[in-house]
Amino acid sequence: MPASVTSAQIEAAIRNVPDFPKSGIQFKDITPLLADAKLFAGAIELLTKNFKPGSVDAIVGIDARGFIFAAAAATKLNAGFIPVRKKGKLPFTTIEQDYALEYGHATVAMHTDALKPGARVLLIDDLLATGGTSAAAIELVQKLGGKILEAGFLIELKFLNGREKLGNIPVRSLVSY
Ligand code: AMP
Repeated sequence: MPASVTSAQIEAAIRNVPDFPKSGIQFKDITPLLADAKLFAGAIELLTKNFKPGSVDAIVGIDARGFIFAAAAATKLNAGFIPVRKKGKLPFTTIEQDYALEYGHATVAMHTDALKPGARVLLIDDLLATGGTSAAAIELVQKLGGKILEAGFLIELKFLNGREKLGNIPVRSLVSY
């Protein structure tokens, strides 16, 4: 069992990079946190806190940084790992979901056989901003008959009200701004 860490320690390991990838965006860089074994393990502990091994069938992770946390959480909870990817990356048959961006739109995809109907799912991404990406991933999970128990994020940008897009799914975030 890794030593527990606090939200303040996690926040201190997140690097703010102004104007990346474009002017006006403050990018939350999680690579310093990932490079610290204790903080990475502690973040996984906190993200999976509400669940015991065996109580979740699948952890759905969102492309790309969400994969890192979702995969680690999956091994800890003895659950499968399912990727939600940007359109065009998955090799087998997929279901897709469009969502709006500030300018234009994007599409995420999941393999059609990724989840069994009734699967108990934990959704994980690194960051909740407007909620568009996660809402699209939730649509995909629900189309395949999965039941989302919780959506977990390392970081939540509260001022963007992303939670409102996730309906009545419980949301857990470790650090918020
Ligand atoms: P959204 O769909 O607006 O909730 O955006 C969430 C997705 O975009 C996540 O997969 C994040 O990795 C990424 N993202 C959005 N804003 C930021 C940010 N300020 N820093 C790092 N990643 C971000």
